[in-house]
Amino acid sequence: MHIAFEKGLSEILHYQKRSSKEMAQIKNIGVLTSGGDSPGMNAAIRAVVRTAVYYDFEVTGIRRGYEGLIKGEFFPMDRKSVSNIIQRGGTILKTARSEQFRTVEGRKQAYEQLQKGNVDALITIGGDGTFRGAETFGREFNFPIIALPGTIDNDLIGTDFTIGYDTAINTAIEAIDKIRDTAESHARLFIVEVMGRDSGLIAIRTGIGAGAEAVLIPDTSSNMEALFDRLKYGRKDKSSRIVMVAEGEEPGTAIEIGQVIKEKFPDYDTRVSVLGHIQRGGRPSCMDRVLASRLGVAAVEALKDGHYNEMIGLVHDQITYTPLEKSIKHHITINPEFLKVVEILSL
Ligand code: ATP
Repeated sequence: MHIAFEKGLSEILHYQKRSSKEMAQIKNIGVLTSGGDSPGMNAAIRAVVRTAVYYDFEVTGIRRGYEGLIKGEFFPMDRKSVSNIIQRGGTILKTARSEQFRTVEGRKQAYEQLQKGNVDALITIGGDGTFRGAETFGREFNFPIIALPGTIDNDLIGTDFTIGYDTAINTAIEAIDKIRDTAESHARLFIVEVMGRDSGLIAIRTGIGAGAEAVLIPDTSSNMEALFDRLKYGRKDKSSRIVMVAEGEEPGTAIEIGQVIKEKFPDYDTRVSVLGHIQRGGRPSCMDRVLASRLGVAAVEALKDGHYNEMIGLVHDQITYTPLEKSIKHHITINPEFLKVVEILSL
């Protein structure tokens, strides 16, 4: 069966279970958000805290990701700490990028803080960098960690969607629709850059949703030539054109690509728009709230059932458990069917 997700089929991987003796030791679960914020992180925090309370665990909130973990920025959380946050963007726990956590010394300090705070297990919410840190830490200190995919990039193996991706693509689409109005009125070609690091997953979906002329993403440098051909030999009567570009080094930034197009095709009125951080903010969509809620419940239940050092994801609408070392090693590729759709529909 062929599934038209933009990622290839994710692997559904085996469970890592701990002994019942180890399971009995978990009394207090720490929760943190790390890396770039994404809409729906609050819904995930809420689900983790409420589920932990439901199963009689204590919960420790950790502010500012791994940086706060190292500094011991801990506070107790209860069901009321997460009231009225499901609809809010950002993260009430704050987030950070921590250079110190990349060092053995930094991670040792983090472990000492967890011992001092009597925290027995961690739930980390973030992207692939957060998972790398979690995997290393869990292995070095034999510490139980469950990770939740909280990133707008959707670039993680082991889940069809990450928390924040749906909101980000909807925010981007709304902005591109507005750009389309001005492109149409002035008969312009707009190069629009969206986030998503080097993966291109935001670009491909928003490109289709916005009716883009072309989507320029990493690993598809031939797309650039196809776009040039289309601008040279294709229909000239189009009143507006949108070209999506994924941020990252390949095939270049929107500004660089815009420059090339302006030089090669001076007859086109070419403009560039970089959507930037608006894609990370805002109220999470219903899809992201539901995804975050389901994964948050599953994360606590996973710890309760003896899972450790795994990412909880959703594949074909089923909760799945992917060992962290597998989720960080594999590279997401874009389903070629998505590229074909762009090409056919942009006639
Ligand atoms: P996003 O992709 O949405 O921005 P992310 O989780 O990938 O989220 P990063 O800044 O890449 O964001 O990673 C978050 C933090 O994880 C880093 O600041 C660092 O503290 C930690 N981290 C990343 N890679 C490693 C690593 N190899 N070893 C230890 N810690 C790491």
